[in-house]
Amino acid sequence: MEKETHTMTKTDIPELIRLTRQEYSDSYDAMNWLTPEKAGRASRERDSLINRIFSHSAGPGWRFSKTKVFTHSISPGCELCGRGDWSCLFINGICNARCFYCPSAQNEKGRPMTSTLEFNTPQDYADYVKLFNIKGVSFSGGEPLMTFDRVLLFLKTLRSRVSHPLYIWMYTNGLLVTEDKLKALRDSGLDEIRFDISADHYHLDALKKAVGVIPCVTVEIPAIPEDLENTREIIRQLHHEGVNHLNLHQIRCTQFNKDRLIKRGYTFVHGPKVTVLETELAALELILYSLEKNIGLPVNYCSFTYRHQFQRAGAQRRNALLIKTAQEDVTPTGHIRTLSISGKSKILARVHQHLLSTKSDPLLWRLSKDGDQLFFNACLWPLMDFSSVQLKIAYSGTALKSAVSFRHPFKEIRLNKKIKVVVERHTKLPGLWLEGEQIRQFGSAFILPGEDPDGGSLAPDLLNDLSRYESFIPGLADYC
Ligand code: SF4
Repeated sequence: MEKETHTMTKTDIPELIRLTRQEYSDSYDAMNWLTPEKAGRASRERDSLINRIFSHSAGPGWRFSKTKVFTHSISPGCELCGRGDWSCLFINGICNARCFYCPSAQNEKGRPMTSTLEFNTPQDYADYVKLFNIKGVSFSGGEPLMTFDRVLLFLKTLRSRVSHPLYIWMYTNGLLVTEDKLKALRDSGLDEIRFDISADHYHLDALKKAVGVIPCVTVEIPAIPEDLENTREIIRQLHHEGVNHLNLHQIRCTQFNKDRLIKRGYTFVHGPKVTVLETELAALELILYSLEKNIGLPVNYCSFTYRHQFQRAGAQRRNALLIKTAQEDVTPTGHIRTLSISGKSKILARVHQHLLSTKSDPLLWRLSKDGDQLFFNACLWPLMDFSSVQLKIAYSGTALKSAVSFRHPFKEIRLNKKIKVVVERHTKLPGLWLEGEQIRQFGSAFILPGEDPDGGSLAPDLLNDLSRYESFIPGLADYC
C-alpha cells in the first residue's frame, strides 16, 4: 500500500523530502536528486518551452487548473478523467512486455480491481459503475489482451447492464493485437484503444490494424528523453496513419523500477511521488515540435501533478456524494465540506426563521438540539447572515473498502443482492473557526469565487490551510 501524502503546498516540501528519504532509504543517496541550481535551470528551460508553445496562436491550450498542456484537443476519455467521471479497471496483473519504466512487477494474473476493490464477476463491476454514476471505464493491466476473454466479458456486460452513456477504452502494448480481436472489441462496444508503442520498439503494425476499426485510436507513451529523436519522427507518421491522439506521460519512480531509472542517469524530483525531471521536458519538447512542424495531431501531456490531483479528486468526489449529508457539500478536490455557524440561540433562531421564509429545501440546513449551532449547505451562502456569529469549517475525506473496518464512520452501499461495498469517512480538518471579515473572505475565495471582488483576501496561512481541501494546485509541479 502506498503511503498517502497530502496535496503538496510549499510548506510541505521539507516533510516530503523526509518521507521520500524514508521510503527510498536504501537507494536515496545513489539517486540523482534535483539540486537547487539544477531546479533553477530546469524551471527556466520549462518556462521557455511553454512560452514557445504558447507563441503559436492556434493549437495549444491548458486544462484542469493548468496542470495539463495540450494541442488541438484531448480525447473524450481524458475529458472524463479530468472531470472525475472515470474508473480504471485493472483487468489483470500480467504482461508480456518488459518496459524499463513499468511501475510494478506485472507477474500475477489476479482478479480485476479498481480503487482497492476486487470484482469477481463482470455483473458486480457493472453494478458498481451504475451506482457510482461512472461515465468512463478503461481496461488496463498488466496487458489486457493476455486475458482477452475476460476483457470481452466485462465489456459486453457493461454494455448490457449499464443504461447511462458510457465511454469505454482499453490500454494495450499491442503485442497480441489481431484484426479478429479488434473487430470483436469494436462489436462489443469499445470506443477507444490506446497503444503503448514504446513497449514494442515503436512499431506501428498493431495500431495500423486498429485505425478504421476502433472509433478512436490513441497512442499513450511515456516521454522518454533518450527516444526523443525517434519520437519526433514518429509523430508525423502517427498523424498520417490516422491516429487520433498522442498522450505523453511523465515517468514516475517506484520501488520496482528505481534501479533501472537510476541506471539511465535520470534526475529525480521530490513530490507526493517521485518523478523524473527529463520526461516532463521531453514531453514539452514534443508538443513544441508538433506545433512548429504544423503536424495536426492532438498531443496531450499527462503530468503527474495532474494525475495525482484530478484522478484522486474524482474518486473522492464519487464516494463523498454517497456519504455526505444534505447539509454538506463536496469541494472541487473531492473533500466533504461541513459548514456551521455558532452563536447565541436568539441569533441562530433568527437565521433559521429567515431560511424558513425563503422556502429553500429544509433538508439543506439543520439546527442543533441546543439551538446554538446551525449546519448549512454552501448553496445557501447568499441567504446567510453572518453578523455576530462564528463560522466553523470542517473537512473529511473518504475511502472505498470491500468490508467495514469499524475504525471510521461508514456507509454500506449495496451494489446488488450479493455484494456491497463500504464508503468510509475520515476527518481531515476537524474544525477551523472564522469570524467577521474572514467569513466574507472565505466566501469570496471558495464559495462564490469571482462574485465578490471587494471581499478581500484571507491571510496567507489560513488560505494555505484551506486550499489543500478546496482547490487544486495550479500549474505544473514546482521543481524541488
Ligand atoms: S506494457 Fe505496460 S504493463 Fe506491460 S511492462 Fe510495459 S508498462 Fe508495464
